[in-house]
Amino acid sequence: MSVVIIGAGQAAAQLVTSLRQGGFGGAIHMIGDEAYAPYQRPPLSKKFLSERPAPETLYFRPEALWREQGVVLDFGIPAAAIDRAARSVTLADGRAVPYETLVLATGTRARDLAVPGAQLPGVFSLRKIDDVRRLRAPLDDARRVVIVGGGYIGLEVAAVVRAEGREVTVLEAEERVMKRVTSPVISTFMQDFHRRRGVDVRLGARLAAVEGQVRVAQVRLADGAVLSADVVLMAVGARPNDDLAAAAGLATQDGVVVDEHGRTADPAISAAGDCTRFPSRRYGRALRLECVQNAIDQAKAVAAAILGKPQRYDPVPWFWSDQYELKLQMAGLSDGYGDALTVGDVTQARFSVEYRKDGRLIAVDAVNDGRAYMGGRRRIAQETDMVVQSSP
Ligand SMILES: Cc1cc2nc3c(=O)[nH]c(=O)nc-3n(C[C@H](O)[C@H](O)[C@H](O)COP(=O)(O)OP(=O)(O)OC[C@H]3O[C@@H](n4cnc5c(N)ncnc54)[C@H](O)[C@@H]3O)c2cc1C
Repeated sequence: MSVVIIGAGQAAAQLVTSLRQGGFGGAIHMIGDEAYAPYQRPPLSKKFLSERPAPETLYFRPEALWREQGVVLDFGIPAAAIDRAARSVTLADGRAVPYETLVLATGTRARDLAVPGAQLPGVFSLRKIDDVRRLRAPLDDARRVVIVGGGYIGLEVAAVVRAEGREVTVLEAEERVMKRVTSPVISTFMQDFHRRRGVDVRLGARLAAVEGQVRVAQVRLADGAVLSADVVLMAVGARPNDDLAAAAGLATQDGVVVDEHGRTADPAISAAGDCTRFPSRRYGRALRLECVQNAIDQAKAVAAAILGKPQRYDPVPWFWSDQYELKLQMAGLSDGYGDALTVGDVTQARFSVEYRKDGRLIAVDAVNDGRAYMGGRRRIAQETDMVVQSSP
């Protein structure tokens, strides 16, 4: 049997590891459009940005070790099309790679904002090693940095850049930062913390245009305000790379639609990681997650299915974000919660928020409180497992 994987990120790396650990002796071919072996993405907006180590320090393992595991590597070349009838992937250089099993692990790409001037030199986004390499030198020369988007990537970069002594403004279109992933308690705490560190956090602030003659010089907001900027970082979220799947006639819905084993409707094609949308009995809806946990655990489930030992994937998601000396750890999904209980000392930046729905603990967000987070993860699993087991 041969497995071809499109994408060479976190999920792809885990898939190969789990397949080989599970005794899979067939051919594996990994196709990645970046010129790097699979690497950890989270440090890109954290220590990799501030400490500038060599890219190889992010690798899960050296390139040679993948080859030693009998993996054929095609890095720096995108897969351009999938021919399901012929069971073959066409690479951008025209080569055809036949498969028996195909796994899509294509992740996400940075979302664009369609505002005038967004293409000017000095405007960046951040998803890849090469993005950081492009950004770092202009950042070194920058005094005023505008970050568009108060999500975790925008705020992590704000923390790094502010610690370097630069003037930082964060523009958040919503009424609070990190609205998509957390409650007002955490959002308020985080935006206040950034403000105390000197970041100009502007809420309800909509970018209307990026302006400059040859490169960015300022940004204009929808309310007419104008801010000088040497560098602008667009951090307005991500879109799944599901285009190849859609072009091949597979179902997509803001993500490649898969079942609880990561399988698409085509028995020869599965998918794992950020690019998928999968059903969760635990949360009663289809989810698309963008986190390391999901990439790892869904890839394990896909490997298990390929190995003929399917295990249903229905996780308690977890996530972390590092900003200044704050470690924010999140377990479960809090949206739709009924009650929120704050435990610990918010003023000392060591506390957690427990979210309940219908009496069950569905999520915990912890700030500098690893115990509350770990305990929360366990309890969420126990309390929401009842839902998983009682559903058909
Ligand atoms: C800056 C940043 C910080 C993050 N911080 C955290 C964090 O603190 N905690 C956390 O849990 N998660 C974090 N994440 C999210 C986490 O990194 C992702 O959830 C994880 O990498 C997803 O793994 P994946 O394999 O699905 O996708 P990726 O790791 O994105 O890998 C997908 C790969 O497929 C490639 N690809 C796409 N299309 C093609 C094609 N047609 N042909 C070939 N290759 C293709 C992509 O270029 C990419 O290299 C962060 C992400 C970023 C960008």
